[in-house]
Amino acid sequence: MARYSRPSGPLGSSLSWSQVAMVEPSYKFACGRKWGYSRILQLREPPNARLIAGRAYDEGVNALLGARMAGLSAPEALNTAWKVAAVSFDQGIEGLQEPLEKEQADSYAVMVEAAIACFHRELPALVPVALQSDHAYTVRTADGASVSVRGRSDYIEPDGTIVENKLSGLARWNRDGEWDEAWIAEHRDQLVLYWLARRAEERRGVAQPAPVVPRARFDVLQAHIGLKEPKLRSLVLEFDVADEHRALAAVRNANAIIRDGRLAARPGPACDWCGFRDRCREDELARGASFNDLVGLRKEGAA
Ligand code: SF4
Repeated sequence: MARYSRPSGPLGSSLSWSQVAMVEPSYKFACGRKWGYSRILQLREPPNARLIAGRAYDEGVNALLGARMAGLSAPEALNTAWKVAAVSFDQGIEGLQEPLEKEQADSYAVMVEAAIACFHRELPALVPVALQSDHAYTVRTADGASVSVRGRSDYIEPDGTIVENKLSGLARWNRDGEWDEAWIAEHRDQLVLYWLARRAEERRGVAQPAPVVPRARFDVLQAHIGLKEPKLRSLVLEFDVADEHRALAAVRNANAIIRDGRLAARPGPACDWCGFRDRCREDELARGASFNDLVGLRKEGAA
């Protein structure tokens, strides 16, 4: 059997926000086994075109906002963003195990370009004061230990609003423009923790690029191949003490689950996007327990 080396430090003592969301079962897409594959066995999910396009979009928007912060004109900023996104996308698809058909690669590249153009058009006055800021927050656990939560926000507005920019293949709102509450609940705590991290930094005297306020925003851009016009909508969230308690409870619970090794498979919505499906299926087959064995029933005719 293959041997694997564990990451240094106690498991779960330092978590990124995405790890918390992967482990804490109150989140819809959580699966402890997936965390175990990724963090204990250190397996890597194979890249796919959708993820590569998403990364190209993110890097393009970062370049766009960086160019605006540097005072470039609107056309210069957009061109810079397109170039950065194109390089990112081309490099990404070079690494695919199964090369994309040219037509498919072109469709993704056009989608990324249109998505960046939409962002530029819909948020023309957006010039943040900080880009890609690292946030870290230490949470005390019930046994007196601590867990450090790490994350990186996309940008911070001059008024202190922390913004998470998301590219989504699905609209996160209905025909009447009402937001998908389940989706918001799934993602809200990420921004709560960024706010808490900034608040803690300010209390320690760390200079902040903008006022620390309990407020954040999602800029969600819907785009997929075949959608003629990408759409962008923004949602502002205000945080209160209930948000703080819930987000901290999620971190503590994720830490306890990892510490106790309760990393169960959780077949469900997360499987649709999981890069470990083949491995997970193999492990289930290898385990081989029949239903009767699992529940302690004797086979008919057995003595
Ligand atoms: S395939 Fe599903 S159950 Fe298995 S690790 Fe992935 S998300 Fe979890």
